[in-house]
Amino acid sequence: MIKAVLFDLDDTLLRLNLTAFIVRYVAGASRLLGQAARMSTAQLGIPYLRSFLAIDAQDREDSLTNEQLFNQTFRAASGIPLDDPAIADLIDYYEREIVPDFAGGVVAARPVEGAREAVDRVWSTGLTCALATNPTFSLACDRARMEWAGVHEDDFALISTISNSTRCKPSARYYQEFANALGVRLEECLMVGNDATRDFARPDCGLRTAYVGHGRPARAVWRGPMTEFARRLPEIVAHLNNEDAR
Ligand SMILES: [Mg+2]
Repeated sequence: MIKAVLFDLDDTLLRLNLTAFIVRYVAGASRLLGQAARMSTAQLGIPYLRSFLAIDAQDREDSLTNEQLFNQTFRAASGIPLDDPAIADLIDYYEREIVPDFAGGVVAARPVEGAREAVDRVWSTGLTCALATNPTFSLACDRARMEWAGVHEDDFALISTISNSTRCKPSARYYQEFANALGVRLEECLMVGNDATRDFARPDCGLRTAYVGHGRPARAVWRGPMTEFARRLPEIVAHLNNEDAR
């Protein structure tokens, strides 16, 4: 029986050019860190890339949080300890005060049509709503992107972040940890996402995915635009519950 709906954020609730956002994020952070550590901004691009790749690796065997592994990799590649209190304060300031202004221009961030309605529909259907965004960013960066999508922290019982996760999508371990923190079983969750790879847990662990992207993934239990998902949610959930009862 479905008890919770887990939404992806980027290109599911929020339309944006994600690559442009990451480039803008890294450029801004590199400028600040470069000034603080007396290094050139250009020297920090590779450490950022390595750190993002390290946490994203699907063959990881460590038990660090994504944030711990990111910081460890970044320090090894640049010498800069992101968890040093002064550096952490700087990044925190950047993410709270500067990053929220990154929505315009080539990033082109705006709500996905039907996203707000879908989130409200989950709660009004009596289900728990959570934000299972790929945990590569801090809560502050998730907050900024939620605001651009027209949703808010309070709309979600749980939000995945770089600090509270130990793997990235599509790792089954990421999804399992998220469901555990939410207090439900994976079989009781419906994931909603646009990514035919990342939004389908691997290996398969009982999590079902409703797909709102442009492909035709075979594993999707439902496929369509977000506006239709919002309208038909009770029907989709009833169908899954009927299948489970058989
Ligand atoms: Mg996405």
